[in-house]
Amino acid sequence: MAVKLKVNSEACVGCGLCVGTFPEAFAFDAENKAEVIGELDDAQAQEAIASCPAGAISE
Ligand code: SF4
Repeated sequence: MAVKLKVNSEACVGCGLCVGTFPEAFAFDAENKAEVIGELDDAQAQEAIASCPAGAISE
């Protein structure tokens, strides 16, 4: 199932990992924080959540 994630922009440190790994789902906003622009499948969503160094991504 497709999952639409959330980014806590207060916590995001703008490292770019999620944007680089899943450009279909994340992009930088004007403040260089990640924002959600699309959906991921379950496995990708769990990977994105687990790999964010700031713990800023959640379901
Ligand atoms: S991986 Fe986390 S800290 Fe890095 S840009 Fe994405 S949301 Fe921000």
